[in-house]
Amino acid sequence: MKTTARAVVIGGGVVGVSTLYHLAKMGWSDVVLLERKELTSGSTWHAAGLLPLFNLSYSVGKLHQYSVNLYPTLEAETGLHAGLSQVTNIRLATTKDRMDEYHYYAGVARTIGVDVNFLTPGQVKDIWPLANMDGVIGAIQHPDDGYIQPADLTQALAKGARQRGATIYRNTTVTGITQQPNGEWLISTDQGDVTAEHVISCSGNFVRQTGAMVGLDIPVIPVEHQYLVTEQHPEIMARKKAGLPEMGVLRESDASYYMREEAGGLLLGPYEVGAPACYVDGPAANSEYELFPDALERLEPYIVAAMNRVPAFGEVGIKKVYNGAIAYTPDGSPIIGPAWGLKNFWLNEGHSFGITAAGGAGWQLAHWIVDGEPTIDMMGVDPRRFGDYAGRGFLIEKNEEAYAKVFTVHYPDEEREAGRALRRTPCYDRMKALGGVFGSVFGWERPNWFAPAGYALTAADLDKPDVLLNDNHPVVPDEPVREKWSFRRSNYFEHVGNECLHVTKHVGIQDMSAFAKCEISGPGAESWLDQLLTNAVPKKVGRVTLSYLLTQNAGVRSEFTVYKAAAQRYYLVSAGAYERHDHDYLKKAMPNDGSVNFERLTTAMGVLVLAGPRSRDVLAKLTDTDLSNEAFPWLTGKKMSIGLAPVDALRVNFIGELGWEIHHPIEMQNYIFDKLMESGAAFGIKPFGIRAMTSMALEKSYKLIPRELSVEYSAYESGLDRFISLKKPSFFGREALLAWKERGSANHLVTMEVHNVTDADARGSEPIYQGDDIVGRVTSGGYGWRVGKSLALAMVRPDLAVPGTELEITILGVRHKATIITDSPFDPDNNALRS
Ligand SMILES: Cc1cc2nc3c(=O)[nH]c(=O)nc-3n(C[C@H](O)[C@H](O)[C@H](O)COP(=O)(O)OP(=O)(O)OC[C@H]3O[C@@H](n4cnc5c(N)ncnc54)[C@H](O)[C@@H]3O)c2cc1C
Repeated sequence: MKTTARAVVIGGGVVGVSTLYHLAKMGWSDVVLLERKELTSGSTWHAAGLLPLFNLSYSVGKLHQYSVNLYPTLEAETGLHAGLSQVTNIRLATTKDRMDEYHYYAGVARTIGVDVNFLTPGQVKDIWPLANMDGVIGAIQHPDDGYIQPADLTQALAKGARQRGATIYRNTTVTGITQQPNGEWLISTDQGDVTAEHVISCSGNFVRQTGAMVGLDIPVIPVEHQYLVTEQHPEIMARKKAGLPEMGVLRESDASYYMREEAGGLLLGPYEVGAPACYVDGPAANSEYELFPDALERLEPYIVAAMNRVPAFGEVGIKKVYNGAIAYTPDGSPIIGPAWGLKNFWLNEGHSFGITAAGGAGWQLAHWIVDGEPTIDMMGVDPRRFGDYAGRGFLIEKNEEAYAKVFTVHYPDEEREAGRALRRTPCYDRMKALGGVFGSVFGWERPNWFAPAGYALTAADLDKPDVLLNDNHPVVPDEPVREKWSFRRSNYFEHVGNECLHVTKHVGIQDMSAFAKCEISGPGAESWLDQLLTNAVPKKVGRVTLSYLLTQNAGVRSEFTVYKAAAQRYYLVSAGAYERHDHDYLKKAMPNDGSVNFERLTTAMGVLVLAGPRSRDVLAKLTDTDLSNEAFPWLTGKKMSIGLAPVDALRVNFIGELGWEIHHPIEMQNYIFDKLMESGAAFGIKPFGIRAMTSMALEKSYKLIPRELSVEYSAYESGLDRFISLKKPSFFGREALLAWKERGSANHLVTMEVHNVTDADARGSEPIYQGDDIVGRVTSGGYGWRVGKSLALAMVRPDLAVPGTELEITILGVRHKATIITDSPFDPDNNALRS
């Protein structure tokens, strides 16, 4: 066995082999794959082989699209047929909300370049004559979709990798992984040791054991998944004999199953409620080609639904049931990218649609490893999108939920119940008593909006098939239902509007304690931050700037508010959802000579936002600090007291009003909260939530990661010019940014007013048209209450990015005229912020 390699891949399922193939394809021939048993003997061999392109995520969609384009090419390259059958894929809709979901998805698909059609029930019947169309109102079709033989696909990829010099060792179990003082990895196996620069973990259901070898608690726990295959059916056999095409893959989303032809019979795969987590601590050492005993009783309602839709399914016996482990993460998307806290240790794990994703996941991870960056936005699959809070108990509950909800309608405002309410800020109960309807980000509970006292949806509202329950988590029996999810404006729309209008006229308070926070200190702190981030680092104590960490290719990786709290001490604030991501990049980039220190402050510090024209009046009653504009201008911060509590107040906010972010020791939060509410009573203080904040941010054309800001767009394309200091001789990504500018941009970020909107605003990912040509995509959208307009932020072709240009945006299948307008439609001169 080789004793050294540039990279070692652990695991010979389809994902590991695809990673090996793509590394070799990018020119790394000195790569080794170690598989404890035979290739595919984990999860891959028993997969049903479906290749669903349908995915509401722009990034995961691109990975799937790449796979479906790659697989048909493998035969020419390797001589091995990967068993691809592009038989089409049809998803049925029986509710209006489901059709909305399909129309929303069609927008995502079209911006990526994936082909989709809408079918009438009659057209579905022509393709699937064995299905009845009772209750079907329409369907979406992927003509290029289909299924593949997973083992054949893996063997073709393995041959392709070997042809490029890669080596595969079967029956070789990795037993230990340690990083040497020189940074190299020592991979111990039962057949000897290998030293490598990079390790890529693709160990499927064994991931928690692999993670433990390097001290990582990887947020993957599998769930049982079953599919069954029937005996041959005479009608299907007759169709085959007559040379008719296969009927394709049929998905009845509203009944939570997929079905396709298999060897003259039918294959049915339900995603059932109640499927248990399995292999919680990993499979047994001798596990190979393992299946669990079938649990048909759990599938009964889905079998009945399938028989109602396709009576032929009930006319033949069941030949075989497959019950296997399917890897899951809390949000159902895989984990692809660098491991946190470790250098050159990579993860390609947690794949629940691994046959579909393998090609794209291997492709992007190979770019990341070889070139240092992926070429598409991978935020949706980044391993660091979860944090320490996602431990064993959380994962069991959350991953079972993610499995059970594969086929539920994925509303953009959906807030799921499992794993709640784990991380609560001290003022959680106070916010709840004020009517807070909570959402969750990075395990934190955050009020999304506030329902008026006694507010509940009426019995008539609830007596509809599309109503889902969200009764102010955690689910408490007898609490009223306050929220109805939708792709359209829903019941909370006007209440969010009232919050916006109240803040802009009076004063509001918001809990933003979920922000990621850290302190960078030490004699080298200033110069290190200066050469890392795009903007000039504040030199004077009390100054605040907004600054960006670029990728090496000059895309945008992270956004930080940087506050110089004291000499040699910088306080950095970034998005709560990306704490592990942002802090991992900072820590990995730090010099190791002791001149710079990092301290995580996320859970030590709380943040209350006080905003609106009366916020100065509220604060003035509680402090002797001079709050006047001259003494305390916009973009500065001060240490001051609120009553007894020492805080750092920063004159910044994300809504474009006069206001302060009050950063405080978390244990003093309720003291401060009560003081602010007491003082604010005279000025009509009211809480506001995340949805009001997002609406107001949109009116200011403020940008968000990973929407307007992403590795795919240069910082200039995203309009960050005034946060980039070219006066500095260097910052990370500077040369690449200038080179990109020189090459010219493909996109330009603009603000648009969308016309004739009645009940559905843009949400993000809608295509933008000029005539029949797609000329851009929406990145964020919604209604701006202060300006009274439906708005969108969008990336468009640079030659069109001129105020006054008229284009069209398709929202839920309807074309709307949309005009490019000047940025920041609310208060373009920032008078409120500076007042
Ligand atoms: C019933 C069922 C049906 C499915 N149907 C579909 C479908 O239709 N479409 C789809 O896209 N997906 C489907 N899936 C999911 C799909 O099977 C998985 O996503 C995919 O196989 C994952 O591939 P992998 O390479 O990550 O994992 P695996 O195939 O499990 O490979 C991991 C490999 O790592 C090896 N390994 C682990 N630890 C070590 C170690 N220490 N040393 C050496 N080797 C190690 C294991 O032996 C194993 O071979 C289905 C899953 C199930 C359970």
